[in-house]
Amino acid sequence: MASDTKNILVANDNSLEYARMMLKSLDEIGTEKNALEKFQINLDRQTGNITEIGEQELTESLAEHFRSLKENPQEANVLKKLRNDLNAIMKLNMNAIERKSAIAAKAADKTIWWVTIAGTLSFLLAFILLVNLPGSIANPIKELTGSIKQIAAKNYSQRVNFEDHNEFGELAESFNVMAEKLEEYNNSNLAKIMMEKKRIETLINNMHDPVIGLDEHKKILFSNEEALKITGLKQEEIIGKAAQDLSVNNDLIRSLLRGISGGDQNEDKPLKIYANNKESYFEKEVLNISIVPTGEEEKKLVGYVIILRNVTSYKELDFAKTNFIATVSHEFKTPISSIKMSLQILEDEQAGKINEEQKNLLEGIKDDANRLLKITGELLNMTQVESGNIQLNMVPSEAKDIVRYAISANKTQADQKNIKLEVSCADNLPKILADSEKTAWVLTNLVSNAIRYSYENSTVFVKVVAEQNNLMFSVKDTGQGIAPQYKDKIFDRYFRVPGTKKEGTGLGLAISKEFIEAQGGKIMVDTDFGAGSVFTVVLNKAG
Ligand code: ADP
Repeated sequence: MASDTKNILVANDNSLEYARMMLKSLDEIGTEKNALEKFQINLDRQTGNITEIGEQELTESLAEHFRSLKENPQEANVLKKLRNDLNAIMKLNMNAIERKSAIAAKAADKTIWWVTIAGTLSFLLAFILLVNLPGSIANPIKELTGSIKQIAAKNYSQRVNFEDHNEFGELAESFNVMAEKLEEYNNSNLAKIMMEKKRIETLINNMHDPVIGLDEHKKILFSNEEALKITGLKQEEIIGKAAQDLSVNNDLIRSLLRGISGGDQNEDKPLKIYANNKESYFEKEVLNISIVPTGEEEKKLVGYVIILRNVTSYKELDFAKTNFIATVSHEFKTPISSIKMSLQILEDEQAGKINEEQKNLLEGIKDDANRLLKITGELLNMTQVESGNIQLNMVPSEAKDIVRYAISANKTQADQKNIKLEVSCADNLPKILADSEKTAWVLTNLVSNAIRYSYENSTVFVKVVAEQNNLMFSVKDTGQGIAPQYKDKIFDRYFRVPGTKKEGTGLGLAISKEFIEAQGGKIMVDTDFGAGSVFTVVLNKAG
């Protein structure tokens, strides 16, 4: 509106200006030489700036009179007519300006009025929106956000209800369908998992062996009925508890947990447990449970399972066998001794003269009786070891005496194979704290082995060396040696290197190991297959 008014007013204003310039040119006629040209210029401008009704006619009349003036400049009447024309044009434009100004003022008033109405309406609208927006948009969004959070927290029963809001109705419907499907999926999965869990729990509970499961922080996860029976604890006293806390008051739990995540997990010795008014034996097995988590590559320890295998029946059979062997070998000893005594009487010819052939026969009987005595002795010792009844008589003993006994006991055997027994034993050796009888038995056995597994005409070296806190006995032979794969097995009970032709029971080294270890010592072998072996016994010094 403002620019239109301005443009129109500018046109009227120009007309006024041209008329004023033409009046000025009329006044200058006679004094100014190019007054007529100036008039003509402004007349041309005016001719091109007609805006009002009647202005065209007045301008044409002005041009007509200007032509008359140019043709007859002396005519005074023409100047007057020209002035009249110009005044009329000026008046017309002045009136036009006034009229247009009045219209513009009216339009401005109207505009202010409309702007006020529009402003008030906008304000009212804004206010209504301000009041109603939370209710109509923010509330459903808030409710939806809350519901999404509930779903994220696995509360799949969550639903939203936007009945009044058509724009949100569809969204609510989609959300509810999604929640319903999630709920259905979750329920089906959960039921399946629960079923699986129940199945595994029942399986573990029905196992006859006690089973205890721990997590990686050694918190007890599960314990089956059998495990509860032997520990004497109730379900609620054990599940979810830290194993370390339970160990403080429960010796059994402590021994069960011994070695978990450490080196020695599975002990050789069975655990003796007194439960349900009877003694039972269990073999402990600890399994480290590791899994590869989804999306990862490295194994991760997630817990442990302790399984106790009930070996009571085997143990009972073992006891029966040990008792049987003990009884039989004990019963054998008396008749063998009497055989030996009778042999001695015969050999001494107290019962009459014996010829050469009879002598040879007696010699054979003597060898067999000695062998029988050795075997029954070994078996008796073994029963002692197996029943854990090794009776030790630990006193300061002379190493030399022990060596002397072992040598003399094997003298005949060595002579038979023409084997030289070379002893290296210093005079001023310190005493050892040992059961001299058992140590002598061990050394005798080692020397006997060395002779038996050596070739004829060789040498067996027996050496005693004092070390800082102990004494080291070694028996070295240059016999066949022991193949590397059997090196660790020769100390096992009843083990004999396959293909061994010499008579024996496979018990000598096993008993020797038990006897030496019971005295706090060590026994080991160093062997060069095909070139001989060195058996070493280390025992503590006395005092
Ligand atoms: P036994 O000699 O009665 O068979 P041992 O327990 O004394 O039982 O020995 C176990 C096995 O170890 C023997 O059968 C033999 O094969 C092997 N062995 C023991 N000592 C030697 C040795 N000095 N040289 C080679 N092999 C040996």
